[in-house]
Amino acid sequence: MYFGSVKFFKHVIVVVTILLIAVPAVFCFILNSKLSKSEDENRRLRDDISEYRLSEHANTYEADEFYSLYKDCLSDKEGFLRLVSSEDLSMYKSAAGLDGTVLTSSYSTKSTTEAVTAAPATSSETESGTVNDDTEPEITTTDVPHAAYESLYPELYAEVPDDIVYDLDMDYVYLTFDDGPSRYTENILYYLDAYDIKATFFVVPDGTDESNARLKKIADKGHTIGIHTATHEYNKIYASVEDYLEDFKTAYDRVYAATGIKCNLFRFPGGSINDYNTEIREDLIAEMTRRGFIYFDWNVDSSDALGATWTEMYNAVLSQTADVNRAVILMHDYNGGYNTVLVLEDIIKALISDKRGYKLAKLTESVKPIQF
Ligand SMILES: [Zn+2]
Repeated sequence: MYFGSVKFFKHVIVVVTILLIAVPAVFCFILNSKLSKSEDENRRLRDDISEYRLSEHANTYEADEFYSLYKDCLSDKEGFLRLVSSEDLSMYKSAAGLDGTVLTSSYSTKSTTEAVTAAPATSSETESGTVNDDTEPEITTTDVPHAAYESLYPELYAEVPDDIVYDLDMDYVYLTFDDGPSRYTENILYYLDAYDIKATFFVVPDGTDESNARLKKIADKGHTIGIHTATHEYNKIYASVEDYLEDFKTAYDRVYAATGIKCNLFRFPGGSINDYNTEIREDLIAEMTRRGFIYFDWNVDSSDALGATWTEMYNAVLSQTADVNRAVILMHDYNGGYNTVLVLEDIIKALISDKRGYKLAKLTESVKPIQF
C-alpha cells in the first residue's frame, strides 16, 4: 500500500467513515449520560421535598435536616427555582401537596396573582397599607361616644412602665413575623437561634393545642409576642371599634392562656392605615392607646406574603433597610411561607455582616414605635 493507491484510499474511506459514526456516537453517549444524571437529580430533589411535605412529621421536621436539604437542593438556587416554577410546577405542587405561594419565581409561568389566590386566606393580605380586594369593605360608622368604650373589657389594659426611655441606637433593626404560628414557626426559630437573635412575632392564635404549643416555644426562646388578630378578617374586625376590641381580646386571652404573657405590643392587620379602617381609625387608635397598648407598623416590607421569590425578598429587605433608620422589617410566619424560611438565614447573615453591621433585636416597650 502506498500513497495514492486504491488500497490506501479504501483505508482512508473506512477510517473516515468510522470517525463520522464513532465520534458523534461518543458525544451522544456522554451528553445523554449527563442529561440522565441531571434528570435523576431533579427527580431526587422532587422526591426529597415531596417526602418532607407529605411526612406526618412535617410540622416538627428537624430544622437542621431541613436546612441541609435546602442547601443540597439549592446549590444553584435560581436554577432550582426555574426548574420547579416552569413546566414542572404543577406536577411538583400536586406531588408535594404544596400551596400556591411556594417557590414561585420571576420565571414562573404562574402569575403572582394566581399564586396568592391559591394561598391560604391569611396570606392574601398585602399589609402594604392598601389592601387589594374587589369587595368593598362594609364599614359601619360608629357614633358611640368615646367614653362608651371604657366600659368594655375593664381588664384589657397594657402594663407598660410610665418611665420608658427609648433606645434610639441607629444600628438596631427588628425582624417581625406576622400571622404565626404556622408550620414554619420552628424553622424560623431555628435560624434565629442559630445566630442568637431575638425577633418579634405578631401572632394570630387560634386556641388549638398545636397553636398553643408553638406560641409557647416562641415565648420560651425569649422572643417578643405581640397581638395581631384572632380572625384576620378585615371586614369583621374593622366594622367598629367594639368589633376590633372583641377580636383583640380573643387573641390576647389565647396568648395569655398559652404562654402566661400579657402582650403590650400589637400590630394592626393590614397596618394602622388601611382601606378597611378608614371610618374608625382615629377612634380605634385613640382607644388602644388609652389602654396603653403600643402598635408597630413597619418601614421595610419583605413582600413575602405577596409571593415574592427569595431573591426579591432578599433585595427588598436589604435595599429598604439601607434607606431607613431603625428598620422594622415585615415578614410572615404563615403556612405559605416556604420562601421566607429559605431566605431568612441569608438575610440575617447579610444584615449582621461586617459590611452592614446591624444589630438585630426584638421589639419592646423601649423601642420607639415605627408608625405609618
Ligand atoms: Zn397579617
